[in-house]
Amino acid sequence: LGPTVTVGEILVEIVATKIGVGFREPVELLGPFPSGAPAIFVDQCGRIGGSAALIGAVGSDDFGFVNIERLKRDGVDVSAIAVSPDYPTGSAFVRYRTDGSRDFVYNIGTSAAARFSWTEKVEALVTRSGHLHVMGSALSMPSAWTVIEKAAQVIKARGGTLSLDPNLRKELKYDDQTEARFAQLVAMSNLLLPSGDELERAAGVEGEAASIARLFELGVGEIVLKRGREGASCFLRDGTRVDAAAFDVKEIDPTGAGDCFGGAYIACRRLGMPVEQALLYGCAAGARNVTVRGPMEGAGTRAELDDFIRTTKRLT
Ligand code: ATP
Repeated sequence: LGPTVTVGEILVEIVATKIGVGFREPVELLGPFPSGAPAIFVDQCGRIGGSAALIGAVGSDDFGFVNIERLKRDGVDVSAIAVSPDYPTGSAFVRYRTDGSRDFVYNIGTSAAARFSWTEKVEALVTRSGHLHVMGSALSMPSAWTVIEKAAQVIKARGGTLSLDPNLRKELKYDDQTEARFAQLVAMSNLLLPSGDELERAAGVEGEAASIARLFELGVGEIVLKRGREGASCFLRDGTRVDAAAFDVKEIDPTGAGDCFGGAYIACRRLGMPVEQALLYGCAAGARNVTVRGPMEGAGTRAELDDFIRTTKRLT
């Protein structure tokens, strides 16, 4: 039915090289790395051999070039990425806390990343796409929402499917309108990929089992729970549950694990693989990515992931 398409922020990320140094202190930085949750997702999707495309915008500058060149190299369709002559490419700075969490300074709202629209090129892409993947981080951006809502309708009307990674970030504003958009998308999703408390947030009820039951009632067909070093589990509406152990790696940079997991999982499912195999590639993609500094620097091709799976122990 056509490529997997996603919509949203395209950024460069500049990362601290030391853990435990806050934004008020100087530290050596590394970057610019191509980034933005939708960009990481789609890059991993393309690398593993899935047909993938991204809708968003960069500035007409070097940071925009860094992103577009990487995505093109990895087989992503960039035809619907606008290049703005007026606004710069978005950026994010990251610092790592000793407890494993991260702090971000985002320059998105005033950048090209938050300013794109439904153009002829977007229309041409969407009308030949078979799957829309939505990252929750894009829901608070008005321009992204306009495109997501329309793309969801077009793709669903032509028999395509929709997935949602809630990707809720404490730095992004979630008002009543964002919550309503989130609920609307949950009800339209064939596949949901939550982590942490996002499962309960999506279901609106407490407890894992009750949340899963509620989401099936709402029409979701497949729920994949991401659990970091605890691995991942897939729940299907027919009652099937498949668990996958995580790989035993040394985490250097946690950014992008969930996005790479999602990109690999969805690409594999759309290539016709069973849940077990898609979970294996998803866990491998997430784990491999955290071993390399930079948001998508560890995304893997199918051959690289096969090699990683062969040579890396699983956690039990
Ligand atoms: P993100 O931090 O990108 O928002 P997330 O919370 O959406 O991530 P995670 O559960 O952290 O998703 O990661 C997705 C998958 O990647 C996990 O299910 C796991 O298989 C793998 N993974 C992530 N972190 C690690 C790790 N430190 N060691 C091994 N595997 C990991």
